Amino acid sequence: QVEAAVKAAKDAFPIWSSKSPLERSQILNKLADLIEHELEAFAQAESKDQGKTIKFARTVDIPRAVYNFRFFASSILHHTTECTEMATMGCVHYTSRAPVGVAGLISPWNLPLYLLTWKIAPAIACGNTVVAKPSEMTSVTAWMMCKLLEKAGVPHGVVNVVFGTGAKAGEALVCHPDVPLISFTGSTLTAQRITEKSAPHCKRLSLELGGKNPAIIFDDADLTQCIPTTLRSSFANQGEICLCTSRIFVQRGIYSEFLKRFVAEAKKWKVGNPSDPTVDMGALISKEHLEKVRSYVKKAQAEGARVLCGEGVDSLALPTGNQKGYFMLPTIIAEVKDESCCMQEEIFGPVTCVVSFDTEEEVIGRANSVKYGLAATVWSSNVGRVHRVAQRLQSGLVWTNCWLVRDLNLPFGGMKASGIGREGAKDSYEFFTEVKTITIKH
Ligand code: NAD
Repeated sequence: QVEAAVKAAKDAFPIWSSKSPLERSQILNKLADLIEHELEAFAQAESKDQGKTIKFARTVDIPRAVYNFRFFASSILHHTTECTEMATMGCVHYTSRAPVGVAGLISPWNLPLYLLTWKIAPAIACGNTVVAKPSEMTSVTAWMMCKLLEKAGVPHGVVNVVFGTGAKAGEALVCHPDVPLISFTGSTLTAQRITEKSAPHCKRLSLELGGKNPAIIFDDADLTQCIPTTLRSSFANQGEICLCTSRIFVQRGIYSEFLKRFVAEAKKWKVGNPSDPTVDMGALISKEHLEKVRSYVKKAQAEGARVLCGEGVDSLALPTGNQKGYFMLPTIIAEVKDESCCMQEEIFGPVTCVVSFDTEEEVIGRANSVKYGLAATVWSSNVGRVHRVAQRLQSGLVWTNCWLVRDLNLPFGGMKASGIGREGAKDSYEFFTEVKTITIKH
């Protein structure tokens, strides 16, 4: 199937790449309209397939998938290339950009259509054709989108979706000689395998990977804003977002007060049937994943940390129809050592650790002391401090006094083990096109 999909994409490339950006833009906008028209059906399917709440699918996943197409439909019309003049040589140089060919796109299960379209939209807007592989755990909305392609006017072969496992379909795509670039979002471990497998072909790679994101809360933070936002940043989508906070550093002066209020608010979160619109947290993706997340809580306890609420401490009352689901309460752990696996490894579930700190210098060092570098949050009303800390954090994104506020024009991506490359208006354009420098002597 991968072979057939790559062939279809390769055959469609000459026609699609020769269309004007405006023609492609109109098709992307049409696709956005069609998905938006069926937003409720897409949201229901995403919630059922993934376990996320219907509220989250309706307000975050599907609207963002629609916006991904609209955004790149617009941004593709506004890029400019460079030009320089060398008067002494009588030369003008300019750059020209062209689509690369067949793009291989591989996405994870946590934000299924959101992340798949974040790759498909810029790739086809730039004139590439694609073979996309959604996660085998969550491919329903990708399938629903396929049914709308023809109606939107996407020519045959431009967008191909293969459904299969990473080891088979994913790896076949990564190893295919006619796929010169791979955009991958997923775990750091899989990225290492993809890097190895694609090396013999010298493929262009964009890797968006895991995180172990700190929130740094100084004693001048506005806790009325900070507490609800840090709850969301820790537990939104069951903590299954690469940008979720999992290490909370609180300055000693407000540590006890923060902890008391944070735990009290976390206990109010409603966990249960994802299709109930009043539920705040749905089910985790699988039994294996739930067991893995729980095992971290046990490890922390064995190391002497204190579980303040959630797993193993509070009881979870589930509706009758959901008793066998993979649910877990928001879990807050305190007094965890920085070296603990709970503070070092990505848990990717509703578990967050809270520790205290004294000085700015100290907390920067501790926040940077993990292998990841995706996103960080800083809470303070001191403008100078906010800038100083943001500059020194090893993190692709730093949010101050907010979380998950994104302007798609700006680069998105991680440092260290959190990834290679950036995505966003200009960055995606550069990744999905090949640049050429042309010199004219007059
Ligand atoms: P994963 O790495 O297991 O799988 C991601 C995708 O890669 C899936 O489609 C899978 O089938 C495929 N895959 C697996 N093995 C492969 C192989 N050998 N060759 C090619 N493809 C292969 O990740 P996951 O468990 O689906 O997702 C969770 C991870 O994704 C977390 O680490 C999370 O932090 C990360 N993530 C990162 C971002 C980001 O933007 N940085 C966003 C969301 C999720």
